[in-house]
Amino acid sequence: MKLSFNQTHKYSSLEEDLKYCEEYGFDEIELRLNKIKEYLKNHTIEELVMFFDTHRLKPYALDSLENVTFCDDIQYQQIKDDLNFLGEIGNKIGCHTIVVVPSFNVGDYTINQIKMESIRVLNDLADQAEKMNMRLAFEFVGDPDCSVNTLQQCYDIIKKINRESVGMVLDFFHFHSLGSHIEELKKVDPEKIFVVHIDDADDFPRGYLKQDKHRRFPGEGSINLDEILSTLKQIGYEGTISVELFRDEYDNWGAEEFIRTAKIKTENIVRKHFPSKAILNNDG
Ligand code: ZN
Repeated sequence: MKLSFNQTHKYSSLEEDLKYCEEYGFDEIELRLNKIKEYLKNHTIEELVMFFDTHRLKPYALDSLENVTFCDDIQYQQIKDDLNFLGEIGNKIGCHTIVVVPSFNVGDYTINQIKMESIRVLNDLADQAEKMNMRLAFEFVGDPDCSVNTLQQCYDIIKKINRESVGMVLDFFHFHSLGSHIEELKKVDPEKIFVVHIDDADDFPRGYLKQDKHRRFPGEGSINLDEILSTLKQIGYEGTISVELFRDEYDNWGAEEFIRTAKIKTENIVRKHFPSKAILNNDG
């Protein structure tokens, strides 16, 4: 079981995140679009390729294409341009997964209408992604305003699409925040989970708990992490687990302390369910 870090520290650069993730023993890193663009102002893509060629740390996924459904033409063109950009970067650095997020506040659309729109858009984006040898991980967001906000709703879309290049993200915060059911997770084909985001949350009620700033380090909140992790193990998930923490408080920490702490806290929780040997050896 490999551990990844998602570049969520507001003020750290890609250079810093790479340095400290390598230093504190993360296996992989999820690179964010804005941080890559910032990095490329003073670096070349070849420098990034060289980093991954010469370090233990490898890229996990590229984050993210957002608000992809119910778009106007101009918004959609930007999404396709970003997909093209991330596809080119991904092919150079050897990372073939892009996180894709549904739209918010779309208005009076039924679950079935949202399903049809999500299928239409994901198929269209997948046509482009497949040509670039990329795959798409659709992330439901446990916020009442998000058009796809439970595991069941998301997995229903993914199953219907039934394409090797389209899977989903399981984010513990989003799973917990609108009360997705563990029984639904037990029915999921692990091959369809392309990305896992681990985090914890403040103990706020359903629906109120929707903001990223309510995330906490794993083990410091109210999410039943053990139940989700043991279910992932039970269904045979063997991919990477990536810690994704947005919280204003943590942004005040230096990048090094933040990454070091994230690694320790995540490993402590994940190790209970996936053997420490596999983590330490970095071969599982
Ligand atoms: Zn996430």
